[in-house]
Amino acid sequence: TSEAYFDSLVVRVMFALAKAKEKVMTNTWFYDDQLHKQEIIDNYIESHMEQALKDHEFKLYLQPKVMMKDGTLHSSEALVRWILQDGKVFYPNQFIPLFEESGFCKKLDMYMFEQACMQIRQWLNDGLTPIGISVNQSKLSFYEVDYVEHLKALVEKYQIPPHFITLEILEDLAADNVDEVNEKIHLLHEIGFRVSMDDFGSGYSSLNILGKLKIDELKLDKGFLQEIFEKNNQKAKIILEEMVKLAKNLSIETVVEGVETEEYHDLMKSFGCDYGQGYYYDKPMSQQDFNQRYMKKDWKEE
Ligand code: C2E
Ligand code: CA
Ligand code: CA
Repeated sequence: TSEAYFDSLVVRVMFALAKAKEKVMTNTWFYDDQLHKQEIIDNYIESHMEQALKDHEFKLYLQPKVMMKDGTLHSSEALVRWILQDGKVFYPNQFIPLFEESGFCKKLDMYMFEQACMQIRQWLNDGLTPIGISVNQSKLSFYEVDYVEHLKALVEKYQIPPHFITLEILEDLAADNVDEVNEKIHLLHEIGFRVSMDDFGSGYSSLNILGKLKIDELKLDKGFLQEIFEKNNQKAKIILEEMVKLAKNLSIETVVEGVETEEYHDLMKSFGCDYGQGYYYDKPMSQQDFNQRYMKKDWKEE
């Protein structure tokens, strides 16, 4: 059947995407020098993370998510930056994998969630109409007992309408146990949160999961656009278009990641993708910069 054909096509393209990723990894790890440097950084990270959290060295950066149809601001994603006293910056790829191993990511995720609540509270206090903030959640956080209660307590503490917050979960979490994840999603929906599946297409994704999981939004991995525009992979293009359509038919909103040029934007717009995120619109920036650039006084509210 054409459905089976499409499924096998998807598997093959996903495999190509995953392989491309692996290659990048091995290239980086090839050099002893790099490996040595990484070891020093890893040691620093693990011995300083707890204190860094207390000292508020983890900063909430915001990157805009834009409406594809007219290029206007729609919402934002919270991305963590670890900024040391001397101004040196650690990026999430340097420390999140270590935090996941040690379990520290549960604390960081909660901290970032609270920072997002505080930002929304500040917008409300300033008489601005808030925009949504998406917060990344690691697998460990999602499975934590009292996870949902904890989030609920925080939105109550800051008196935030929960629909302003979207929780981004990863596809490998979803693949593990659909029923258990759906139960959690149901509880999150009852409070009023939105749930998004991040990095879709970066692993060995199954299209089936889209029909089963009760997510509100699908984030298409930036690997798709790279494959299309940097490797001229025409199959990736077909799959991306079909995924946007499929999500639409399932009433799931779509966000494409890694929009770096106008060409990428135009393609995704022609596919009917709802939102875009990427350097073409803007990079992640500090809350202060974001507020200066995007959150102007809303005169209607005055
Ligand atoms: P992600 O959730 O997929 O976030 C998007 C990443 O793509 C960000 O990297 C962002 O800076 C980058 N990006 C944005 N636009 C473009 C573009 O046009 N081209 C390309 N090539 N990249 C773009 P970042 O900030 O380094 O974060 C990396 C990952 O770390 C995130 O990937 C997310 O999985 C994780 N992460 C970040 N903050 C948190 C957090 O607070 N908690 C948890 N658990 N994970 C986090
Ligand atoms: Ca994300
Ligand atoms: Ca992503």
